[in-house]
Amino acid sequence: MSGKIKKTDEQWREELSEEQFLVTRKKGTERAFTGKYHNHHEKGIYVCVCCGQELFRFSKKFDSGTGWPSFWDPISRENVTERVDHSHGMTRTEVLCSKCDAHLGHVFPDGPRPTGLRYCINSASLDFREADEE
Ligand code: FE
Repeated sequence: MSGKIKKTDEQWREELSEEQFLVTRKKGTERAFTGKYHNHHEKGIYVCVCCGQELFRFSKKFDSGTGWPSFWDPISRENVTERVDHSHGMTRTEVLCSKCDAHLGHVFPDGPRPTGLRYCINSASLDFREADEE
């Protein structure tokens, strides 16, 4: 795998919308049901909005009813970093892009089989690429 991508906040601000910047670089959360991918059912691949790394695929997306795009597995475990997050008085597992450290969302142990995981991801952290492959 190629090396990490590091940029300053000023560089990220130039490349991202305000909401994308706040979510990915400042660990923000978009409001539920406001993102562009929670109700999105096209065939394709979701990539990191910051660096383009492939993160999730449509065939592992499910409707969680939470208002955020939800997946039961990433495209590869190597493409995401999971980190314990004690912010906001909770203990959660944060999910980041392994290439550029973009904040993506959190993973919870209440997802569907086969993994039992629910990757709860901000639409603002993702871009979508159409693809026919599973
Ligand atoms: Fe990235």
